[in-house]
Amino acid sequence: MIAKVLINTTVKNLNRVYDYNIPKELEEQVELGKRVEVNFGKSRKSNEEGIIVKIVDETEEEIKNRNYELKDIISILDETSYIDENRLKLAKYISYMYFCNVYDALKLMLPPGTTSKNSSKSLNTKQDTRVRLVKSSEEINQDIESGKISSAKHIRLLRFLIDNEFVVINDIIDGLNISRAVINTVQKNGYITLEKFTPEVDLLENFDIEKTTKKEPTTEQRHAINEILNFIYEEKYEQCLLFGVTGSGKTEVYLQVLEEVLKQGRKAIVLVPEISLTYQTVNRFVSRFGNNVAILHSRMSVSKRKEEYKRIKNGEVDIVIGARSAIFAPIKNLGIVIIDEEHDGSYYSGSTPKYSTKEIASYICKEQNAVLLLGSATPEISTYYKAKTGKIKLLTMTKRPEGATLPQIDLIDMKEERLLGNTSVISERLKEELLNTIKRKEQALLFLNRRGYTSYLTCKDCSTIFKCPNCDVALTYHKSNNLLLCHYCSHVEKNITVCPKCGSNNLSTGTIGTQKLEETLKEIYPEITTIRMDADSTIQKDAHQKILDKFKNENINVLIGTQMISKGHDIPNVTLVGVLGVDSLIAINDCMAAEKAFANISQVSGRAGRAKLKGKVIIQTNDTENYILQAVKNHDYIDFYEKEIQFRKNFGFSPFLDIFLFEFSSKNFNILKAEVSRMYNILLNDKSGIYKVFSPKSPYVQRINNKYRMNILIKTKVSNEFYNLIYNKINEFSNKRKKEVTMSVTKNPTFIS
Ligand code: ADP
Ligand code: ZN
Ligand code: ZN
Repeated sequence: MIAKVLINTTVKNLNRVYDYNIPKELEEQVELGKRVEVNFGKSRKSNEEGIIVKIVDETEEEIKNRNYELKDIISILDETSYIDENRLKLAKYISYMYFCNVYDALKLMLPPGTTSKNSSKSLNTKQDTRVRLVKSSEEINQDIESGKISSAKHIRLLRFLIDNEFVVINDIIDGLNISRAVINTVQKNGYITLEKFTPEVDLLENFDIEKTTKKEPTTEQRHAINEILNFIYEEKYEQCLLFGVTGSGKTEVYLQVLEEVLKQGRKAIVLVPEISLTYQTVNRFVSRFGNNVAILHSRMSVSKRKEEYKRIKNGEVDIVIGARSAIFAPIKNLGIVIIDEEHDGSYYSGSTPKYSTKEIASYICKEQNAVLLLGSATPEISTYYKAKTGKIKLLTMTKRPEGATLPQIDLIDMKEERLLGNTSVISERLKEELLNTIKRKEQALLFLNRRGYTSYLTCKDCSTIFKCPNCDVALTYHKSNNLLLCHYCSHVEKNITVCPKCGSNNLSTGTIGTQKLEETLKEIYPEITTIRMDADSTIQKDAHQKILDKFKNENINVLIGTQMISKGHDIPNVTLVGVLGVDSLIAINDCMAAEKAFANISQVSGRAGRAKLKGKVIIQTNDTENYILQAVKNHDYIDFYEKEIQFRKNFGFSPFLDIFLFEFSSKNFNILKAEVSRMYNILLNDKSGIYKVFSPKSPYVQRINNKYRMNILIKTKVSNEFYNLIYNKINEFSNKRKKEVTMSVTKNPTFIS
């Protein structure tokens, strides 16, 4: 018997399949979709990982005609196969649509953490090795500041560990591209420890789950449920948009639809944004369906996720709930895929394969005759366009159940505040409302847009901005330990006291973070009780939930936080939301910024007054006339949509045209320029008129980690003809590509710098 094996190689576009002999002793274990270790290429030393994509019996004649000897498969790396013919087809589709290797696409469908070459050693053990910090983040930052830690790799590793508590060693090696040797050195230096563990990390382990029962649906809910169920009963592919204002009870609709899907003997995938994959969200599903739910979450350990994968594959659960990658869960007999907060950016993968979860979900639902249900209060403009033009079914919910009303939203002009002599970051009006809220024994959220306060260090005398020597970006200033850090390559500069250019010590930063905001509040009202939720306060496991519980149970006056506080929880006593730092959100710098800003600000505002108490929202801005903020204030998505869709029609953006971004990078700028211009000419040489190509550009950050970057943008309307044509062009380029230059292609990038 012979196995056709797809090799895992970093060589781009090498999708070739090679034949290997299956030795007698492995015959029983081989199976389509299992990973194997094989020897590949001329060098006898290089053992590679591959996936069996076909098993064939050769005829006597074929064996005779073969004029070379096949190598044996060395070992089989998987106990279970997660790849079948359908999954192979899906991987090929992803590879074609998103310009990646088939192997990269297949990796999406394997249980998490199984794809490193070295993982074979730990394959059959139940234990993982986990890396844990043994020093506090303050100590580490001090050592970085004092120069005790100076290697960029060490800093990168330690900073990553400060942000992520549960890190399995293979995830570091794969994900951060940091070698085992580096990890060992950092361990020897006393910053981390490696420990074996049998992970039992479970979002729900520490909590009692109270059973909830079905609520009597409102008229709007009943209508939506019936429409969706009709499609389910018909057992054919349909896509629906559930467009319901925040708090209109979309989740209750999901739950009741799921109940019926399960009664039909079918299964479901529920996707939520990573950030809202909290105990509260998950609990709403588990409390209805109990053990019948599997959870896939990146904060879970690799072995726990593997276990969940096994449960799903063995058909032990009917519902999978998870973030983006859960769309690839090995679940059969799907009746529905639900994508909650469908406008969320996390549904676009930012690393290879750069896929759109909604496109993949649509493919999978078609294949299984399932319904794809998208839910949002602020749908993506393209999604709403499809719904309005009848391509997908539109279901609208405009009211909150049990008479809860939408909050009143006021825009406060910060320019005027300053003219009136208030130099504080908190407006007079917000101060007043905070006091009223506290007096009524209700609670407030203060949302601080982090991007609004990214801080740079500049010289006041000569205007020099401190930049990274390796990347063309400004270094970010970290006040607590007086250091400058590059967020792209981890370059650090310490103890900055004078300007390197003119020697002046008149340096300035304009920082305000959540910590500063908390201090300011306490200066105004010393008795106020506050709690913060931001990157620093959520390092610990379950920190999000603990902070929310504390806020709720101890009736703390104000919760201060960044983007994190905008989603996934429902606190009935919150009646005031203050929104600070939105101006950089609404300063449009890429084609999708407006819809992201609208969704984000609406979402935070929607946290106010979700139960019976009336809510109030105060948004502070320098631009009260801005159309995005006006639409948020009036709770008027449609108004926003109409303006936005006109703009996109005029300028040729999604949904009218698709964008393909070709990104090139190289350490050698001259070769880069020459290759980019060669590709540009190849693209220009086209008479079909199927696409429009724009001249090459340097992105905003022209150099990252000493690699120069350039890109070429194409606009088109996706079609088979386009794909055929563009693959011809790519092949023409790739055949002569200089190896110093890398090229990648992204379909409809969410951000073009
Ligand atoms: P959304 O997902 O649209 O933001 P939720 O599903 O979180 O809204 O519902 C908001 C609140 O209304 C929740 O507290 C939920 O329990 C409640 N709710 C939903 N549907 C009903 C109903 N039919 N009757 C009473 N309360 C409901
Ligand atoms: Zn200077
Ligand atoms: Zn840098």
